Amino acid sequence: MIMDEKLQHIIEQLACEHALPLESYEYLVAKQSPQAAAALAEHAAAQRRALYGNGVFIRGLIEVSSYCKNDCYYCGLRASNASCERFRLSDEQILACADAGYELGFRTFVLQGGEDAQFSEERVAALIYALKEAHPDCAVTLSLGERPRETYAAWRAAGADRYLLRHETADANYYAQLHPGGMSFERRMECLQWLRDLGFATGAGFMVGAPGQTAAHIAADLKFIETFKPEMCGIGPFIPHHATPYANEPAGTLEQTCYLLSIIRLIHPPILLPATTALGTIAEGGREQGILAGANVVMPNLSPADTRAKYEIYDNKLATGVESAEGLAELDARMQAIGYRIAIDRGDPVTEKPDRED
Ligand code: SF4
Repeated sequence: MIMDEKLQHIIEQLACEHALPLESYEYLVAKQSPQAAAALAEHAAAQRRALYGNGVFIRGLIEVSSYCKNDCYYCGLRASNASCERFRLSDEQILACADAGYELGFRTFVLQGGEDAQFSEERVAALIYALKEAHPDCAVTLSLGERPRETYAAWRAAGADRYLLRHETADANYYAQLHPGGMSFERRMECLQWLRDLGFATGAGFMVGAPGQTAAHIAADLKFIETFKPEMCGIGPFIPHHATPYANEPAGTLEQTCYLLSIIRLIHPPILLPATTALGTIAEGGREQGILAGANVVMPNLSPADTRAKYEIYDNKLATGVESAEGLAELDARMQAIGYRIAIDRGDPVTEKPDRED
């Protein structure tokens, strides 16, 4: 199938101008085809290579708590899932995970968990100090949900560098479909703005193929990324969890996720874009496909082996093999097989275009 002229023009415009009118984003999403995907991926790979060479950044993911006070309809950790076996790591376990990760070559640690009051402002601030004292050359990323501005400020003052808080959707009505009444779109956006104002490298993101999601919803997400310009953006296919209201909904696809990875790379070329575990879960070689589409980050799991399976945000989540920190050599081999390599580096976002040789 030949791409229509309008679609070709939109792709060229995006690659040159890094911005599109909202209706062009919607057209681009609605007209997804293998030809359009290939054209977008070619531009995306060239633009990421110009900024980051062939390096793929690694983040050591430490899942600190599976307790959560929220009840997001799509998530296996939702508070009302009584069948979920919960865990919470001790500070000693978290610091030991980081020590082990440092030895393996990780220079960024991501502390991720549900909204768990036991990970209080004071406790997390002390953890950040301890991590920075033990590994001053490492970046600390937090992904601990919505918190008061003062708490974010305290964590930033303690030395945290980055914060991941998926916006989930840039459409307020759709946000209300995905979340129960106690959660608000306005609050989510306010948190992201606080994080940005406090100087965190800020990560947004959304699920691809979530129940009820339309091309118009995704277009709004792309416009949000264009205007907010997050330093990071985590997107992955929606995968249902058996103990949620969305248990019987179809999963998102590898193809649409890769298509959107390419588009997001072109909207904001310096963005740090992970090929997520969900992408690796949904298809064999999904992570490699994500890298080829424009992603430049992978987040292997550094959590203790016995808790990984319990952090069950969706069904069949991978946590072994190349998804585990111990599988780094294999991950590097897989990256080399597609022309990339693991970079032992903090992996900060570039702000200016450097001259790259590789
Ligand atoms: S998505 Fe996050 S905030 Fe929502 S229930 Fe799951 S862990 Fe909690």
